[in-house]
Amino acid sequence: MPEAGRLIVCATPIGNLGDVTLRVLDALRAADLVCAEDTRVSRKLLARYEIPARLERFDEHVADARTPKVIARIEAGETVALVSDAGTPGISDPGEHLVAAVLDAGLKVEVLPGPSAILTALVASGMPARSFFFGGFLPRKSGEVRRRLEQLKHLDATLVFYESPARTAAALAFIAEVLPGREAAMARELTKLHEEVVRGTVEELAAEVAGRTSLKGEVVLLVGPPARSATVFDDDDLRSRVRALVAQGVPRSEAVKRVAVETGAPRNRAYRASLGG
Ligand code: SAM
Repeated sequence: MPEAGRLIVCATPIGNLGDVTLRVLDALRAADLVCAEDTRVSRKLLARYEIPARLERFDEHVADARTPKVIARIEAGETVALVSDAGTPGISDPGEHLVAAVLDAGLKVEVLPGPSAILTALVASGMPARSFFFGGFLPRKSGEVRRRLEQLKHLDATLVFYESPARTAAALAFIAEVLPGREAAMARELTKLHEEVVRGTVEELAAEVAGRTSLKGEVVLLVGPPARSATVFDDDDLRSRVRALVAQGVPRSEAVKRVAVETGAPRNRAYRASLGG
């Protein structure tokens, strides 16, 4: 029986093609197959480093059909590299399910770390990085955006969202409405020629972006944590939060855990508060 191969998840640049690691280049050179979100995008990286890799499309439209084939190749001893258009596969990109499927099949997955827009934007923004929450892309429907932001309102962490340039102004308007007064930043075109990081309150940022005729490129939005005083919750707050979750069918212990994380209150205090009233 041939030796089992592996899946190598390769982080690639988020703009500047110089930001690729030596290990990733070696892995792409040595792979039997490179699964790419968009083969045209990955071809540019491969051409820059003169790597004649065998590329196959692996995006969300073909992922279900291709996953068993990739697993069969790995079982046959091949090494399959996975790349997305930019950054780390699996982070708001195809890859998460493939990694899970390969692991479920008892096969080896290796991740070669490298760029991701989350950490680059977080550090570039100067926002508190001791604790942050990555929210992916905000929902498209206005009611859902508001609900999502409401859920995150009391989280004592910097919030990080990916956004498309076309929806950035609208997203900032929602953020200003639900999270007024917060510090915020927009990191755009990171590592590229027109890189910029705009900082201000959410209202200032919303006005700045609304005033631009067009916004191009790729955007990460960051919202600072609530002011410390706003994160002090009394027992009534804690009780009503736990009860709201329990009413939605969440078991009490899980509800207490979630409320403790959201509010920063100790878990036993949230539990005691939930019993009172
Ligand atoms: N897997 C990628 C990663 O690890 O960062 C993210 C892929 S997600 C489909 C694409 C989003 O990432 C963009 O809409 C934008 O929010 C963010 N992004 C990617 N490259 C960026 C850049 N150079 N500058 C700012 N944001 C970027």
